[in-house]
Amino acid sequence: MVARDLTQMQPRYALDAAFYDRVRAAKPSYTMAESFVIPPYSGRGFIAKKGQTFRVVEETGPQIADVAIWNADDVREQFSAMRTWLLDGWIIRKNSRMWSELPWLRPMATCIDDTVVAPAGCDYHHHFVGTHCGPETVEKRFGIPGLNGCRVNLLQGIEPFGLTEDDLRENINLHELNRMDPVTGRRAIARGDAKTGDYVEFYAEMDLLVSVSVCPFGDGSHNPTMWRENVVRPLRVEVYETGIQPKAFPARMEPRAAEPNPRPARR
Ligand SMILES: [Zn+2]
Repeated sequence: MVARDLTQMQPRYALDAAFYDRVRAAKPSYTMAESFVIPPYSGRGFIAKKGQTFRVVEETGPQIADVAIWNADDVREQFSAMRTWLLDGWIIRKNSRMWSELPWLRPMATCIDDTVVAPAGCDYHHHFVGTHCGPETVEKRFGIPGLNGCRVNLLQGIEPFGLTEDDLRENINLHELNRMDPVTGRRAIARGDAKTGDYVEFYAEMDLLVSVSVCPFGDGSHNPTMWRENVVRPLRVEVYETGIQPKAFPARMEPRAAEPNPRPARR
């Protein structure tokens, strides 16, 4: 069986690794644009302009962060987990790009750094497989209504920007260590091993609206119903001006002229 690398189907969007090396090398000259702490069981939205980076920082130890991303100028364009999985894989690490859905289908943000040092042989990763938790999913799984969930936190983050639940779809999960069983395809979660000050950093390829939730699953070792045992820690967000403007990607895929389908319709 011959396996094909699907990323090669997008030569126009081939990763320019040297560009992101340059973005990383410029870190000493970054200037901080914004820095704030998000308390446990809450969320907050912010703008990262194109050419800026944003870091999601472990403020006091391991804590899961759910992060949703929109084009700030046209919120119909937002992060697509399935397109990203197809083009870049489900693991978020250095040089992973977060893609939008058609008709845009372009990188919205690129991961330029991850300071978490995983133990040797660890195959758990930042990801976007688990979408976000919510009071409804917690109730369905554990039978307890009314508990906090990332859905309400992410909404708390976007409401000041005029967005509603209708605008919230997919998101990424940072510091929620995720593993896929190669046989069953099912996912498993391990406790986060990040240290205070560890961060994952993204470069904004366009003006972004970002919402970050402090997940009630805490470090991933317990579930939200174990509120006595759970340790839910704050997250810090830092936004930096890099001084480096992103490469331009086409705003939308150009409409194709209608052509006859070369295959006859099945009868
Ligand atoms: Zn959550």
